[in-house]
Amino acid sequence: MAINLRLDFLKNIGPKGLALLISSCFAAISLIFFFILRAAGVSITSAGTLIFLILAVSFFAYFLSFYLINYFLYRKIKLIYKIISDRKLSEEAGKDQLQLFNQDLSVVERDTFLWVKRKNQELDQMKEMERFRREYLGDVSHELKTPLFNIQAYLQTLVDDRSLPEEQQTEFLSKALKNATRLQEIINDLTIIHKIESGERALKLQSFNIRELIAEVFEEQQDIAAMKNIKLLFKEGADQDYSVNADREFIRIALSNLVNNSIKYGKYNGFVKVSCYLMEESVLVEVSDNGIGISEEHLPHVFERFYRADKSRSREQGGSGLGLSIVKHIMEGHQQTLHVRSKEGVGSTFGFTLQKV
Ligand code: ADP
Repeated sequence: MAINLRLDFLKNIGPKGLALLISSCFAAISLIFFFILRAAGVSITSAGTLIFLILAVSFFAYFLSFYLINYFLYRKIKLIYKIISDRKLSEEAGKDQLQLFNQDLSVVERDTFLWVKRKNQELDQMKEMERFRREYLGDVSHELKTPLFNIQAYLQTLVDDRSLPEEQQTEFLSKALKNATRLQEIINDLTIIHKIESGERALKLQSFNIRELIAEVFEEQQDIAAMKNIKLLFKEGADQDYSVNADREFIRIALSNLVNNSIKYGKYNGFVKVSCYLMEESVLVEVSDNGIGISEEHLPHVFERFYRADKSRSREQGGSGLGLSIVKHIMEGHQQTLHVRSKEGVGSTFGFTLQKV
């Protein structure tokens, strides 16, 4: 144990300490040499001369070893250390980076380890971003390809066959238009995500009445809801006026997406109910419906971009597959929570919190 402690001390010794150790060894060797000579009967000059000689040997050994360590070893370590220190290491190392001689090698070792760790993390992050970028590009091109291909096919048929009956021509044109509208929706949704992610559109926080905003969204979506005879309601007892602090425009987009989904995936003659609950530091807003619901298997993925629990239904309803992803981005931007509860055939509830004023 004691030996181990001493060895540890030697392991972390600095260059000056090392030079001192070497010179002490030289002094000890000279002393031993002197005793050997004396034992062999060789006469040695006075004690003063002896001390002077030992001191001279020690000084010489100290400066020589210090110079050699510096020249062959520490200059190179210092260079490497300076390179890695450019990337903000520990405070201690930052202060001492140009005075490597004064510091313990364990600090250098630790900082090098930190640097390697940081580099590995950066590399992992870059690989992850690269994978994300590849997947994102693949998804976007796939999503744009389908409506574009449809438009092309309808228009090509119309160009190739001028003898088509008028109703069929009108039908193809309206289908082409529907696909063009879908293309536009995807691009609009991608633009919103880009604006939030890139920070191009920074959050504009303001105090506003959340009930009023919900009423505005209801009014906007009223015509679409009427097509399926779906009622847009406030939940009884959870419709008070609450003031929240958030970006009103973004919250309007989030609410519109949620209410619109509840209509899209809602049953005929069904309902969409919105409720507001006051919590300690926030207001909880929930959008519920009695629609088709989402199965357990799909539920954990619905906030992923382009994820659709029911692909054909979503496309038929004109969904871009980005609505919930936008809601998630908006809530993350506000550092608020977003959750979903759903049961297939029963309905879904999407809820998010907002900072109360
Ligand atoms: P989409 O444009 O396809 O509606 P979203 O990102 O808005 O894309 O939603 C992702 C998927 O989650 C939808 O395709 C749908 O399957 C499911 N979903 C979202 N909201 C509801 C809801 N209220 N009821 C049932 N399923 C829903």
